[in-house]
Amino acid sequence: MTIPYGRQDVTEADVAAVVEVLRSDWLTQGPAIPRFERTVAAYCGVPHAVAVCNATAALHIACRALGLGPGDRLWTTPITFVASANCALYCGAQVDFVDVEERSGNMDIDALRFRLEQAEQRGVLPKIVIPVHFAGQSCDMRAIGELSRRFGFRIIEDASHAIGGRYDGLPVGTCLYSDITVFSFHPVKIVTTAEGGMALTRDVDLAARMQLLRSHGITREAARMQGVPEGGWYYEQLELGYNYRMTDLQAALGDSQMNRLDAYVARRNALAEEYDRALAQLPLALPWRDVRNRSALHLYPVRVGADEANDSDRAQLRHRVFDALRDAGIGVNVHYIPVHLQPYYRALGFKVGDFPVAERFYSGAISLPMFATLSDEAQARVVAALEKTLT
Ligand SMILES: *Cc1c(COP(=O)(O)O)cnc(C)c1O
Repeated sequence: MTIPYGRQDVTEADVAAVVEVLRSDWLTQGPAIPRFERTVAAYCGVPHAVAVCNATAALHIACRALGLGPGDRLWTTPITFVASANCALYCGAQVDFVDVEERSGNMDIDALRFRLEQAEQRGVLPKIVIPVHFAGQSCDMRAIGELSRRFGFRIIEDASHAIGGRYDGLPVGTCLYSDITVFSFHPVKIVTTAEGGMALTRDVDLAARMQLLRSHGITREAARMQGVPEGGWYYEQLELGYNYRMTDLQAALGDSQMNRLDAYVARRNALAEEYDRALAQLPLALPWRDVRNRSALHLYPVRVGADEANDSDRAQLRHRVFDALRDAGIGVNVHYIPVHLQPYYRALGFKVGDFPVAERFYSGAISLPMFATLSDEAQARVVAALEKTLT
């Protein structure tokens, strides 16, 4: 049987929580949504949380709430899922990328500072920067926060990989150094709602705007209306919003999963430490993690071919290793094809060589199986298959 690279864990308690909603009066727009929002907000120590149908939608309404539009610029990194960049294009804004640091795959702060200084001189500063907490490890948010004050951009943390992680002793999602933090609850992520996402913020106005945008831009609160309510049926559309709502079924699943978040992250960290130990002698670059911060360990991405002369030789070696592992029943994956090299982005003018560290990172990257219910025996099979392939 193939060991997947990621897998959800659904318990009988989760099933019971969803069935309870199925038997209730509310399948959507009921009490399970605010309950789940309060659970996640309390976990992260942040006052406002807005649940939506997926993290892509959360990124979109986060950009809209911050006023991103035509003529504006948004920067993110190439080592991410396409959604981190697409949200800018949804708003009619331009997107650009900042290269990553090789050891972690996170945004390179020195590269960000350099690009910002250049952009300031040319009058083309970004309105929003989206750092991505790659593999579950927080970016250096203190440093990015300082740069945001100096250069006047807003920050959305794409924490799709990072719920349950910590930065500076506090949970990822506190929004102490950012305007908004986004989580994904896709089944491969740390906790799941099947499809789902959430946007967290400390700013009551941003929260209210995101609540409007997730539901057509419509309000039923008299205090927010421009006119006088005409009766009990009355609502007003104030913005051009979307139907990005989460269902109560999903929220109940997520709320039940949150009970096990810390246990999941602890198990992921234990598996990572075992990989660190068992793979130390193999010709692999293991994922660097800052010991001061607890990574949520969404992924365990190793890199092969440090000694290869160039990216294409390394990519050939990676191809061989990847195929050998898949043949051995190890469901490895690759995170990520740099976004700027996707055909859609090449058509916008991006090309090979634009972000050399990200391209090098990608050329050797292989994500090993990493999920909370991965057994010690299955992990030993992964290690044995790697040893056989690489020696
Ligand atoms: C999964 C993911 C998303 C999108 O999440 P969905 O909930 O599937 O929309 C966005 N950014 C990153 C970094 C992701 O890993």
